[in-house]
Amino acid sequence: MTVRTRIAPSPTGFPHVGTAYIALFNLCFAKQHGGEFILRIEDTDQQRSTPESEKMILDSLRWLGIEWSEGPDVGGPHAPYRQSERMDIYKNYALELVEKGHAFYCFATAEELDQMRAEQQARGETPKYDGRGLKLSNEEVSRRLAAGEPHVIRMKVPEEGTCQFNDLLRGEVEIPWAQVDMQILLKTDGLPTYHLANVVDDHLMEITHVLRGEEWLPSAPKHQLLYQYFGWEMPILCHMPLLRNPDKSKLSKRKNPTSINYYKDIGVLPEALLNYLARMGWSMPDEREVFTLDEMKANFDVKRVSLGGPIFDVEKLNWLNGQWIKSLTPTELLGRILQWQNDSKKLEDIAAAIQPRISLLSEAVNWSAFYFNHMPTLTAEMFEHKKLTPEQVRQSLQFAIWRLEKTFTWNNDTVSQILMDLANQMDIKLRDFMPTFFIAIAGSTSATPIMQAMVTIGPDLTYARLRHALEIVGKPSKKELKVWEKLNESLELAKNNPTDS
Ligand code: GLU
Repeated sequence: MTVRTRIAPSPTGFPHVGTAYIALFNLCFAKQHGGEFILRIEDTDQQRSTPESEKMILDSLRWLGIEWSEGPDVGGPHAPYRQSERMDIYKNYALELVEKGHAFYCFATAEELDQMRAEQQARGETPKYDGRGLKLSNEEVSRRLAAGEPHVIRMKVPEEGTCQFNDLLRGEVEIPWAQVDMQILLKTDGLPTYHLANVVDDHLMEITHVLRGEEWLPSAPKHQLLYQYFGWEMPILCHMPLLRNPDKSKLSKRKNPTSINYYKDIGVLPEALLNYLARMGWSMPDEREVFTLDEMKANFDVKRVSLGGPIFDVEKLNWLNGQWIKSLTPTELLGRILQWQNDSKKLEDIAAAIQPRISLLSEAVNWSAFYFNHMPTLTAEMFEHKKLTPEQVRQSLQFAIWRLEKTFTWNNDTVSQILMDLANQMDIKLRDFMPTFFIAIAGSTSATPIMQAMVTIGPDLTYARLRHALEIVGKPSKKELKVWEKLNESLELAKNNPTDS
């Protein structure tokens, strides 16, 4: 048997360090066994998946040095490797399960299901699909299908007993069937859910081992059942510990930047980031801290993964990066620095922005420094503004973060529209509104036009600096957050339904 592992990212956001972490361990596991590591794009959620996100994920994994032998960009014997291009495959598998009596049609509307859940909650029960579709007679199902009524296909799940499966790291895992929902396999639009597409593709792509994040543990019973229903052999499962913030909570962008691009932007070397991710829950047999991907592959043993939640600590990553930098020759280091900012579009944008402001080339250094720096040095006093209350300053930063995070098109039009709308809706003149952003991004109110600069430095560094500024002026408390979320939404709604028109 050839060992085959995969990473199966959903292209719904920025390339997450957690994706690189799981990819790295799948790659090393496959190589340890002389096997193959492949990449599959799971874009069944067509609302949230974007080609931009897919491109960023592939580019950033490659930047890190993670290579796959089959994938959407390199092809392979099981192509296509993008689920949106495999849509006609899944429906027949769902129908096969209906035929075999393992899955059933359900015609319940969203309102009916809401009511069902509300009633269950009122009785103090945990909301769960109640199996109502199973009670329909064959005749009724045929009649309603013939009438073209919207429906989904759900899988049957035992009502009693316990699901048992083996996990490479956790041994025998038991989950009571009562906790497992009768999962939708095929949605009203005829498209598969993650669970169906994932199991079908892992089978068709001959995946032998699934190393994935711990958050997928509750899905394992559904998957095991699907393999059983289809009569297929289930890959061996291995749920890796979740990366955590230093306070032990699940790694989240609110507390730590999570986009690989951010680390690239601030000048983390790809081999250092990979080295750091390798040390998340794993260590070399000789416990050395600095090692290459090849050394990890040569020494890999999944049994050395420890289940205690590994802490993703940016300080430690910076330290490790420093070790890598110190190990370079000056010539190599120079090469790496030049390569780091080797983006002619970005450099030209900076040149255009500073051009009206300089009369000597040497002045370019001061004017452009903030485009390359990590974080400006800030104090709360720098944000004091005679026309704005501290609360307005804090809110403008927080609302801008929320709104900017929602956009995937990062250009002058989108960024400036978002900030101008926000100023307008908060009823603050642009000239009073912008200094906060100048300081947050450039550390000074005298800098090149800041909206353009945000576009040039890119979304990841922009978010990080806005978040840092918010920390300096005072992050909202939990209570404030709730109120602010509502306020931000109502301001946005007001924009869509202007009352004065
Ligand atoms: N598409 C899933 C994700 O985004 C894959 C989970 C799995 O590995 O099964 O993480």
